[in-house]
Amino acid sequence: MLNYDEANEIIENEFRNINLTKEEVDLLDSLNRVLSDDIFADLNLPQFNNSTVDGYAVKYNPVISEWKIIGEITAGNYNEIDLDDNSAVLIMTGSKIPSSCNTIIPIEDVTVENGFVKFIDNAKFKFGQNVRKKGEDILVNELAVQKGTRILPQHISLLAACGQNKIKVYKQLMIGVLATGDELVDIDTFPENDKIRATNHYTLLAMIKQQNMIPINFGFVKDSKCGIKNRIESALNSDIDILLTTGGVSVGKFDYVKEIIQELGVEIKFWKANIKPGKPIVFGVYQKENKTKFVFGLPGNPVSSFVNFIFFVQNNMKKLYGIDEQKVKARLISELNKEDNKRHFIRGSLKMNDASNQYTVSSVCSQSSGNMVGMSKANCLIIFEEGKNHLTVGEIVECIMI
Ligand code: AMP
Ligand code: MG
Repeated sequence: MLNYDEANEIIENEFRNINLTKEEVDLLDSLNRVLSDDIFADLNLPQFNNSTVDGYAVKYNPVISEWKIIGEITAGNYNEIDLDDNSAVLIMTGSKIPSSCNTIIPIEDVTVENGFVKFIDNAKFKFGQNVRKKGEDILVNELAVQKGTRILPQHISLLAACGQNKIKVYKQLMIGVLATGDELVDIDTFPENDKIRATNHYTLLAMIKQQNMIPINFGFVKDSKCGIKNRIESALNSDIDILLTTGGVSVGKFDYVKEIIQELGVEIKFWKANIKPGKPIVFGVYQKENKTKFVFGLPGNPVSSFVNFIFFVQNNMKKLYGIDEQKVKARLISELNKEDNKRHFIRGSLKMNDASNQYTVSSVCSQSSGNMVGMSKANCLIIFEEGKNHLTVGEIVECIMI
């Protein structure tokens, strides 16, 4: 059986064949998308020397502490005023500073009387204080936002400042999800006897959405070979780039998925990885009319398919888009043990320890691959590598935020 790294490398290599095309979207629609081209500043920021406070603009001279007020400038209403050492201009935050001035005294630090402004405490007087210099944030033609950035509101701000109303981003992948299982009923139904509510496709569709890819819901289907085959076939014939199925990939009596996708022409790249949870995963590639699609047959257990998605689908998708994986190192505060040689992904609770300024992590109570309650209490997955069977309190472990 392949270990995690071997299985992951196969997916990573196959994903390299995905041709990430670009599209142009309106600035606001670029939120959470991945920037496909570097954006350069089309101007200096700030574009002119300006005041960081409401105050008085003066020409710095350390021996002077009183000035005659000879005018005022508000933001957006500049007028060139020529100042000498003994004159000041009332100036508002963000206003352009007259070229003859170099220092701003905050309004809170002065008294004003009979058209004169006076420093309350001259010791505070410093050359260049409260001036934002032209180009100090970024110079024209400098790199503003790097390609591969997931665009967040803070990037929208800078893109807007650089006059970008259309943004080039990578196209989102279209990812279909189909759940399988005789036991499944809709979530608006109360499950009777041995039925359960079908939850996996919601989880996976939510994860796809969280990655800002396009989720396509193929619903769920009973464990009939013919029924599953028809649904997978039509999914493969749709516009999706990736198909995720859940259930029916293990060695049970009705575990048909692997056989079915093979019959449909999907080339199986691997089946099973030496991990827990999520071992029975099957991964294959489907080629039709120059278009490559990827098929992940994920196990039915809710935690298994969740973990499989993060470590095999999401991480490789991020790599493809050039987005860094969010790993956090943390100090274990509860010991971890396992008996097998699999890589375990332990649902954990990660906290910042204020005293040590370090993350600490402990496992959440239940590690059962069917336990959605335990999963809902976790905020990270702790990586417990193959080759290790015991992690002691105080060890530093790697965690993936979820
Ligand atoms: P399977 O991988 O089909 O053997 O299913 C493993 C376990 O996951 C069983 O307990 C199933 O009832 C459960 N399961 C399968 N599909 C789903 C689903 N869509 N939502 C929730 N649980 C599921
Ligand atoms: Mg099943």
